[in-house]
Amino acid sequence: MDPIKHVTIPLLFIFALKGELQLTEVFLVVLGSTTPDFDVFFEEHRSYFHSIFFLIPFIFAPFYSKSEYLWYFTYGLCFHFLLDLFSGVLPLFYPFKKLGIGIKIAGKIEIRSLPKIKIESKLSSAYPSKSKGEYIAFSSDSFILAVLTLILLLFKFFKP
Ligand SMILES: [Zn+2]
Repeated sequence: MDPIKHVTIPLLFIFALKGELQLTEVFLVVLGSTTPDFDVFFEEHRSYFHSIFFLIPFIFAPFYSKSEYLWYFTYGLCFHFLLDLFSGVLPLFYPFKKLGIGIKIAGKIEIRSLPKIKIESKLSSAYPSKSKGEYIAFSSDSFILAVLTLILLLFKFFKP
């Protein structure tokens, strides 16, 4: 999944839940939701920062912190893991076990005769991919998602 989707989906979800956010909270959600993909700079993408050993300290830290802002970073981080689980594989026990697991769900509506909805799901596993020296920044669907999210942010933060 590209970083635009990793940023826009949790932002739209939290705006739908809370209605209002401070700019600092938006920044922390953006930071949390993009941080795991910085492991693209290691030899293998979806490696160290996509491991449960990276996530666990950030899940417990907000409980011990006096600042509520850490929750927004952790929220973004958890959302990244959730989205990656459904868009590829997550090597949860990296580097001890270099095998990622993912969930694939696809729905198909057959319209040849009576409309019938067919939903297929499967658990997949794969080895984390080698970094190729490039990283897809966005696709056309994530581009329009980014534009719509920016419009929402402009309306929220710069009301006329
Ligand atoms: Zn990722």
